Amino acid sequence: MTKYSNMPGWIDTHCHFDFPLFDQDRDEIWRHCRDLGVRQLIIPAVDRHQGERLADFCRPEGWWFALGLHPCFLARHQQPDLDWLDMALGQTDAIAVGEFGLDFRKGQTAELRQQQLFWFDAQLALAKQHGLPVILHGVGAHDEITTRIKRSGFTGGGVIHAFSGSLQQAHNYLALGVRLGLGGLLLSPRATRLRQTVTALPLDSWLLETDAPDMIPTITSLQRNTPQFIPLTAAALAAMKEVTMAELQEQQWQLIQQVFHR
Ligand SMILES: [Zn+2]
Repeated sequence: MTKYSNMPGWIDTHCHFDFPLFDQDRDEIWRHCRDLGVRQLIIPAVDRHQGERLADFCRPEGWWFALGLHPCFLARHQQPDLDWLDMALGQTDAIAVGEFGLDFRKGQTAELRQQQLFWFDAQLALAKQHGLPVILHGVGAHDEITTRIKRSGFTGGGVIHAFSGSLQQAHNYLALGVRLGLGGLLLSPRATRLRQTVTALPLDSWLLETDAPDMIPTITSLQRNTPQFIPLTAAALAAMKEVTMAELQEQQWQLIQQVFHR
């Protein structure tokens, strides 16, 4: 990874830049992002079909990718996909297992949650086996996730992306070596609890991300999110933590190297 040693610039640690929503103008957006100082992306897979294409997709620009089976696309996952994931994690340059996790929205059946738990435990075991960090998705299930990580003995660390849980839940993740993904929600005037959590925790708890094309910041009228919002989120974080943008950039780079073994 010499191309990125001493990397100046921002890294979007969670974006789905391969999604078809970017097919029309991806090059143009990436040029714009580079002009704004964004230098690297981490692109997690959500299912096997998309994951199978991800290494080739990322190669020309040297983007980093992760491979995993997302809990919101349960209907797409089949048992043999775990064998594929095991094989692909061994044969590609995937930097993490993800995106996987638990999405416990209201009104779900117990059976659906049981299925999610199966895929969660199986992928956590693969991360442990391959010595890789995890990129986690958690909705309404932070306590369940940290309990299961603790029980599994997994110590590879990683990130819970787009974290907006409680301060206690944040501490639970950090104690397991799992950092907290911080996105455009920080720019929302209503995100009072998130700002309190950011204030209460050390700077090296947070990894900047967008989750593009999802989680469109409320400050924009754009129809999709893009990695171009990283510098804005960074500016908000730098102001809150009273560090310069250059200091934050360097700190993020050090942290990313540590978490993802780059
Ligand atoms: Zn995602």
